Parts: sequence; C-alpha cells; structure tokens
Amino acid sequence: MKSALHSTKPVHELSICQAVLRQVLAVAAEQSARRISMITLHIGPLAGVEPDLVRLAFPLLAAGTTCEGATIWIETLPVQVRCRICATTSEVPLNRLLCADCGTWQVDIVSGDQLLLARVELLDETAES
Ligand SMILES: [Zn+2]
Repeated sequence: MKSALHSTKPVHELSICQAVLRQVLAVAAEQSARRISMITLHIGPLAGVEPDLVRLAFPLLAAGTTCEGATIWIETLPVQVRCRICATTSEVPLNRLLCADCGTWQVDIVSGDQLLLARVELLDETAES
C-alpha cells in the first residue's frame, strides 16, 4: 500500500478539525442545540487525512463548545474510478487505480478523495427544566 500520496502533518488534521468544528457549530446554532452527541464524518482513503489523528485532535478543539464530549464516528469511503475509455465506474483498491473492466490507467477518481461532514446528531435537552 502506498502511504506517500500526501504528506500527513499533524497541523493538516488540526486545520481540518477546525473546519469541521465550524460547520458543526453552525448547524448547532441553526437548530439552537445546546449539545452535540455524535458527529459522523466520511473520509476517503485518498483524502490524505488520518482518521486516528482526527479522533485525537477533535476533542481538544471541541472543549468548551457545544461539541464537547461528542462521539466522532468516521466511515471510510470506497475508492471509485470512472474509466475514460469504456465509461465504467468501478470500485478499486487504493494501490490499483485501474479500470476494473478494461484495465486502463486512464481513469478519473470519482470517490475516495473527499472528506464530508455526513451527519450531526443533536442531544435533545428540551425536556430539561
Ligand atoms: Zn475501462
């Protein structure tokens, strides 16, 4: 497995966590939520993001916000390529970015390089007196 596609620096994950936190806090403010219980992220293997570092860095940044104590759930996205020759979209292993149908390297990555904030679960505290 190639691990040098992107150089992974801790600072990179921190800035990503900051961006995610900003998005989550915006959602929380919109919904007037006081607590976030769970945050689901979808991360592609080609995104150059280390899920373990995100899990470590996020709680540090979230301390003191409505996200404090939230569970970070990370789902890894499959790598998919679309062939420029035969137009087939196929799911491929990270170390073999070739069309699964005709075997050409002339493919475009359609999934696997993104990081998405998939879901934000709010803790319902409206019953609280
Ligand atoms: Zn093909």
